[in-house]
Amino acid sequence: MNLSFLVQITYIVASILFAFGLKFLSSPVTARRGNLLSSTGMLLAVLATLAGQHVIGYQWILLGLVIGAVCGTFVALRAAMTQMPEMIALLHGCGALASVFVDWVHYEKLLSLPVFAIGMVEGFALFLSIVIGALTFTGSIIAWGKLSERLPGRPILFAGQQWLNFLILVGIIASGVMFLMHPQQTLFFYTFLALSALFGVLLVIPIGGADMPVVISVLNSYSGIVACTTGFVINNTLLIVVGALVGANGIILSIIMCKAMNRSLVNVIFGGFGQVQKKKLGGEKKTAQAISVEDAQLVLEAAKTVIFAPGYGMAVAQAQHAVRELTLALERNGCEVKFAIHPVAGRMPGHMNVLLAEANIPYDQLLEMEEANPLMESTDVAIVIGANDTVNPAALNDKTSPIFGMPIVEVFKARTVFVIKRSMASGFAGVENELFYYDNTRMIFGDAKDIVQKLVAEFKAK
Ligand code: NDP
Repeated sequence: MNLSFLVQITYIVASILFAFGLKFLSSPVTARRGNLLSSTGMLLAVLATLAGQHVIGYQWILLGLVIGAVCGTFVALRAAMTQMPEMIALLHGCGALASVFVDWVHYEKLLSLPVFAIGMVEGFALFLSIVIGALTFTGSIIAWGKLSERLPGRPILFAGQQWLNFLILVGIIASGVMFLMHPQQTLFFYTFLALSALFGVLLVIPIGGADMPVVISVLNSYSGIVACTTGFVINNTLLIVVGALVGANGIILSIIMCKAMNRSLVNVIFGGFGQVQKKKLGGEKKTAQAISVEDAQLVLEAAKTVIFAPGYGMAVAQAQHAVRELTLALERNGCEVKFAIHPVAGRMPGHMNVLLAEANIPYDQLLEMEEANPLMESTDVAIVIGANDTVNPAALNDKTSPIFGMPIVEVFKARTVFVIKRSMASGFAGVENELFYYDNTRMIFGDAKDIVQKLVAEFKAK
């Protein structure tokens, strides 16, 4: 059995591991196994590539490996769960940059050969790869900057923006066509490389607010596509297969997120949308009613059914373990406890599932929004913990609201609603929440973890 055959077989095994890894990631029960399988696939792929005959020296690879591993470990250990979207942006931005470098080096290698030759398909794949890779890299860096608040999170708009985008796109296509006609002319190559990098910046700056996580997912998908096109450029089947998997997954995830926010993908991608619109509640001035922890505990003590609606604030406060304790206290009291999980609660899909699983809350207690909503009317207390947009009734009944049409966890239908948050501040979409003013709503102001711990202490004191 020769080496290249062995490498190809290992690539096939790695591709199968990636496919099953992704499949397992779709459920919290199997997600850890999915991660392990995909990581094993990646290790096999790296080892097989390093063992291949194309490697001419290991010293630079080793250096890159050490620097990458140190930086990756450092960043991953430091990143909080709530920083995941920005970290993902940075990671797939780096992936796209790596693909651009591979394509670029391949082009330089062709140029250095005594006889320069590049086929039409290879040339086109190279062009696509550089364009998507460069715009994914710069777009991801801007997305990272916005999410980490190093850049303004709001959409950045200026006069003639769409025209500028159009002109750049024309420039990219024109230089691409010229490149395909005269591939040895490096000027065309560098022109579409530079224009694509600029295009990435211009594509992401007009997007902001609640659309940013969707943009991250779209860019993630682009990074898969660029790996795929790079696979065509350097004739690597593993890159083609894995790139296609990542590309397809990213698009599916983006569509799921868009559906959960009632937005169209085209709407999100083509700029100027997702603006954070502050909407004040009109009409008479209403006041929200607060309740003390002691009184809230008395209501909970009498409750037979409780549904938690967790959101981003629970993640920030790291309140999941305290919530688990409160769940146990309620259950010991004969109460049935469930969790209503909105698909975009938190800052990434599955955010709440991961947190609650970390606190050992049984999976069968976690209900999807569609399963939980019909139960709301017969629920004694709905406890909103650090959620805001995902429980805002304006999404159902206020046509002027920016979040109108977004499906929500219908906590307002429960007999009593407790909202645990620190202030009356709005959520990610920047919209005021009319739920806080409902007659059956009581606000419990404070840090989510602190309040829940106090409620648990009240139960223990009885
Ligand atoms: P929101 O971002 O709407 O609201 C979170 C609330 O948590 C805030 O109002 C804040 O209020 C409160 N909070 C923050 N820190 C704490 C704390 N320490 N203790 C208690 N409360 C706290 O959260 P949701 O989860 O309801 O909504 C998610 C938003 O993210 C939606 O707009 C969604 O569209 C968007 N989004 C999510 C995606 C995803 O995949 N999950 C993707 C795209 C967008 P206060 O400051 O008063 O405490």
